[in-house]
Amino acid sequence: MVTELGPAKIEVELDTSKIFRQIDAIRRQVDIPTMAEEVRQVIGLTDRQRIGMNRLREGMRQAGRSPSDIKAATQAYRNRAIENRSKVIARTETMRIQNRAQELQWERAMDAGILGTETKRRWMTAPGACDLCRPMNGRLTGLNEPWITAIKGKEVWNPSFIHPQCRCTEVLDEIQLGPALDVPGGQEFEIEESAA
Ligand SMILES: [Zn+2]
Repeated sequence: MVTELGPAKIEVELDTSKIFRQIDAIRRQVDIPTMAEEVRQVIGLTDRQRIGMNRLREGMRQAGRSPSDIKAATQAYRNRAIENRSKVIARTETMRIQNRAQELQWERAMDAGILGTETKRRWMTAPGACDLCRPMNGRLTGLNEPWITAIKGKEVWNPSFIHPQCRCTEVLDEIQLGPALDVPGGQEFEIEESAA
C-alpha cells in the first residue's frame, strides 16, 4: 500500500514479517548482510519493482533493442531489485525486533510490579527522520497503548512499524514505580530529587 503525505510518497505496508518467519536468521543472531542474503533466497519482486521492470522491457522493445539485450537488462534489473528488497527487509526486521525486545522487558517489569502501569513511553526519531516520523518525535503513549500516527489515524504499537526501514526507537518517560518498589511504611521514592 502506498500512502501520500504531502510530497512524501512512502510505502507504509510491507509484509516483511511473514517473509522473515521463513528464515531462521533471528534465532541465530546473524548480522544484517547475512540476513539480507538469506532473505534474498526467499523473496520475489514487489509490485513497484515489477512495474519498473516491465517499463524497462517496453522501453527497450520500442527502441528496437535485441531480445538478448532486453533479457540481459531485465535480469540485471531483477537482481538489483531483489538485492535492494532483501536489505530493506533485513534492516526493517532488525529494528522491529530491537524495539520489541525493549517492550518485552518493560512489560515484564510492569508484571513484576517494578514499573507502574501509568509509566509512559516516548517516541524518539532518528536523525534525518522522514515526514511520517518527524511529527511523532517526543509523543508519549502508555505502556499498554499504541501511538496514533498521522497516516489516517493508523495505530502503531512499536515505532518501527510505521514504515519499512524506520530507525525510530522508544524510551521510558514519566516513570512511575510499581507496587513492588514501594518503601514499607508508605513512603515513596523521589526519583526526580535523587537524580538531581
Ligand atoms: Zn521512523
